[in-house]
Amino acid sequence: MGCEANVYSLAIAMEMYAADYDERYPPADRWVDLTLQDFVKTPGSYRCPRDRSTARSSYGMNSAISGMQMMSVPDDVVCLYETAHPGDNPYGSPDDMPLPPRHLGGNLTCRRWPNIKQDHATPTWGPFGPR
Ligand SMILES: [Zn+2]
Repeated sequence: MGCEANVYSLAIAMEMYAADYDERYPPADRWVDLTLQDFVKTPGSYRCPRDRSTARSSYGMNSAISGMQMMSVPDDVVCLYETAHPGDNPYGSPDDMPLPPRHLGGNLTCRRWPNIKQDHATPTWGPFGPR
């Protein structure tokens, strides 16, 4: 699948996870473990076609929203992004995005579904408000 389709399915998986778990996002350090089990059918969805690593996930979760109540996260906050440090459960901040970007138009980031934007200049990452 293409990167954008992947990020769509992962963003939807995040919302589905939250719906089942007290309206909260998963803990960032286990987000792939927790979404892969029940909400993402294809392990390939975690892989950007342009990621040269063989790690499980090419995408990171914004650590600022780890375990947060979904409703307390503003719509423009980044949920998922392309990480320069692929791994089993990658998470972090804008500093972790690949430079140069993986794609011609920039790295892909995703606000709360379905606000997917392809750019590097992402407006809001947190921290914001109490957890
Ligand atoms: Zn990509």
